[in-house]
Amino acid sequence: MDLTIHRGTKEIGGSCVEVSAGETRLILDVGMPLVTPEREPFDSSVIRKKPLQELIADGVVPQVPGLFDDGTPPAAILLTHSHLDHSGLLHLTKPEIPIHATSGTSKMMLAAALFGGQQSLDSNRHAKVMSGEPFQVGGFTITPLAVDHSCFGSVAYLLEADGKTLLYSGDLRLHGRKPGMIRSLVAEVGPRNIDALVMEGTHVGAGRAKGKTEYDLENVIHDHICSAPGLVLACFSPIDVDRVVTYYKAAKRAGRIFVADAYTAFVMYLVASESALPQPTKAKDVAVYFNKSFEQRNRQTVAAKIGTTGISLEEIRAQPEKYAMVFRPSMSRLDFNHQLPPQSRCLYSFWQGYLEKPDWVQLRQEIAAAGGDFIPAHASGHIYEEDLVELVKQLNPKQVMPIHTFEPGGFAQHFPHAVLLQDGQRYSIG
Ligand SMILES: [Zn+2]
Repeated sequence: MDLTIHRGTKEIGGSCVEVSAGETRLILDVGMPLVTPEREPFDSSVIRKKPLQELIADGVVPQVPGLFDDGTPPAAILLTHSHLDHSGLLHLTKPEIPIHATSGTSKMMLAAALFGGQQSLDSNRHAKVMSGEPFQVGGFTITPLAVDHSCFGSVAYLLEADGKTLLYSGDLRLHGRKPGMIRSLVAEVGPRNIDALVMEGTHVGAGRAKGKTEYDLENVIHDHICSAPGLVLACFSPIDVDRVVTYYKAAKRAGRIFVADAYTAFVMYLVASESALPQPTKAKDVAVYFNKSFEQRNRQTVAAKIGTTGISLEEIRAQPEKYAMVFRPSMSRLDFNHQLPPQSRCLYSFWQGYLEKPDWVQLRQEIAAAGGDFIPAHASGHIYEEDLVELVKQLNPKQVMPIHTFEPGGFAQHFPHAVLLQDGQRYSIG
């Protein structure tokens, strides 16, 4: 079995891995970069503007034989989850290559396509996979294993071929709402004495303290909602269904109605059979506000599916202290006409790095002008360094290869059996 990490050996974003055995080649994730080689934020619009050959020459698209252009196409793409740094170049891949992914992943891609201008998963290419159910591609036996991450439907993949075994972690964490998922994964993988573990190391690096769990975050958010004098504005990604649960529960405990925007309501509709979230039509403590940026295109189709006409802005403005509403910067202009209710409290549940973007800078000014406050309240979607050391010990691989990290050297310090590869280097799993 051979392993090539085409991108991700020393960067977060743009993950793309190839594993081959005999004639069979598999691709795990086809991500879009998050940063440039200079570590500046990557401008994703270049993907639309430039021709494929130029993107390959610029290193935006990795050079993988037959994946995007000439050459024998790989047998399959295995997608771990729908975050763009794992799926963002899928639409450039050759249409004859099947894409294996969970139904959760295809649902999140559908929602992000309708509401976030992203690409949906081509149903003609989608081969549905289920956690714990092995399948064959060429000489490989592949087992998807559910993992807890800030994106609904995430899996890791266990690959077996040539008498060798490799686990690709995708993105995962131990401090989420579903620690049972990782316990099951350890129970499945630990006893096998796997040959190789390709492991995400987002938080690997000197001196990073362990952060909050998703349950800690629920308590923090609950306290902020309880003490808020006016409207609570909840800013987070709806495809992180566990975060939707966190906000819904915190609002409910604080005695407020959770107001989903159209995107969030559609995600709640899509995952109805797979999550503990209430349906907006059936629960008294949930309402839907059809915000303007989505209204024109999607209100009819989405409202028909969700089965509600929604709450009006007038109702929210009349009694702002009754609600905790899902919010995004565009709503300040389109829906509130730059006049947020007095003393609004904005809870920010994204990565801190986005705060420098102009729309967040402006929103913070408008909240301050309304006499409100802006409070970061987040828990990472990625495993903390301390937990990673413990997890690798439990998975007990013969070799561990870092991916999705700016600090591969940190792996060498923790693990004597770490193998630090270069992007594009072909490595034979011994
Ligand atoms: Zn992710």
